[in-house]
Amino acid sequence: MKPIVRFAPSPTGKLHVGNVRTALMNWLFVTKEGGEFILRIDDTDTGRSTKAYEDGIKRDLSWLGMDWGSTFNQSDRFDIYDAHAQKLIDKGYLYACYETAEELDRQRKILRAQSKPPIYDRTGLHLTDEQRAKFEAEGRKPHWRFKLSGKTASWDDVVRGPQNIDTSSLSDPVLIRGDGTYLYTLPSVVDDIDANITHIIRGEDHVTNSGAQIEIFEALFELNGGGKIPKFAHTPLLVGRDGKGLSKRLGSLSMDQLRDQGIEPLAICSLLAKIGTSDPVEARRSLAQLVDEFSFGKIGRAPARFDEAELDLVNARLLHETPYLDVKDRLENMGVVGGEGFWLLIRNNLDKFGDVAGWSTVINAPMPGQITDEDAGFCKQAAEMLPDDIDAETWGLWVGDLKEQTGRKGKSLFLPLRMALTGRARGPEMDKLLPLLGARRAKARLAGGIG
Ligand code: GLU
Repeated sequence: MKPIVRFAPSPTGKLHVGNVRTALMNWLFVTKEGGEFILRIDDTDTGRSTKAYEDGIKRDLSWLGMDWGSTFNQSDRFDIYDAHAQKLIDKGYLYACYETAEELDRQRKILRAQSKPPIYDRTGLHLTDEQRAKFEAEGRKPHWRFKLSGKTASWDDVVRGPQNIDTSSLSDPVLIRGDGTYLYTLPSVVDDIDANITHIIRGEDHVTNSGAQIEIFEALFELNGGGKIPKFAHTPLLVGRDGKGLSKRLGSLSMDQLRDQGIEPLAICSLLAKIGTSDPVEARRSLAQLVDEFSFGKIGRAPARFDEAELDLVNARLLHETPYLDVKDRLENMGVVGGEGFWLLIRNNLDKFGDVAGWSTVINAPMPGQITDEDAGFCKQAAEMLPDDIDAETWGLWVGDLKEQTGRKGKSLFLPLRMALTGRARGPEMDKLLPLLGARRAKARLAGGIG
């Protein structure tokens, strides 16, 4: 049976690195297995969900290269959730509670002060019809809790191994808020059943939810004629370089921001697919390669360290290995001339793709070089000695002659030439750059003019 997975972001914000890692784990796994990737938009919180965030999430996933087989919105399925909720109410799985947020907060504080776990005391479960009617008459609207069994929910997690959640240690979860809106918990289970989800792959912050959701699956199966609980894979969370939780800034680092910084989507996927696994972090030139290399068995239990500096390095390495054909269109769109020769010459000097523009100017546009007063005479002499026909051999011969005639060597020979010709202290190999620059530009720059 082919697996079916879902990535289920809430459109209440932008996609950040943590969500993208979850999306990637789902996508890599299911693509490798030839299954289906469903994009579920968890927009039950209609007050905070926006179409703009939803569009942004879809744009970002496409930009990263993660396509989806189908997509749907939870907000289109309220009737279905209502029908299931009603059945759960009729069977006593869901019960009405009338406490206000302040009352619940006070109860938790009292329990904590008594060194007891802050578990909901199930007052709602034991209300009489009269008490309920009184609350309603006061204008209170009920919120609805799911009655946990108090037994242990167990599953064999694909990443974490055997898991046991003692549901007697949990508060009965609220599934429907006082204003009638759903928390994601029940709709998620209803949708996972309807979409025949085989694997729920998500961050380990959901482990406790899984204990409660397993009981919701069981209740819905009991009411609707059976079914099979999906497998769970809870992946370790991202932490910062120092091993501590992601800072607020890193935690909310969005694809928008990374795109604006000029980070390549494949650099993001290469890094997020590998941190926290037994594979080394390396730049990968295609998602297909990441798919090939994916295995749940490689994911460790320790948190995955996310380091922006490492992302920059992976990005640079990726560019250094990118063949011309992969960037031909982008170079042409930027109006960069010089074709493959130009790309192969400069790619090792790029941190971001945008750096191409600077090197394009160095090679293809009029600009002055940089010459110190001290080196002006030497550079003039170099201009005079430079032949008009430049090929791959020219640099070596020319510099050899200059060395002989001026007695300069090492840095004092090479650096002034590089600075005069490119305006920069570092860059591509000069023997390859010189033919692209051409004799006219080179001579003008060496002579202190614009070339
Ligand atoms: N919308 C939920 C979240 O983003 C989905 C969790 C899940 O994958 O079940 O946390």
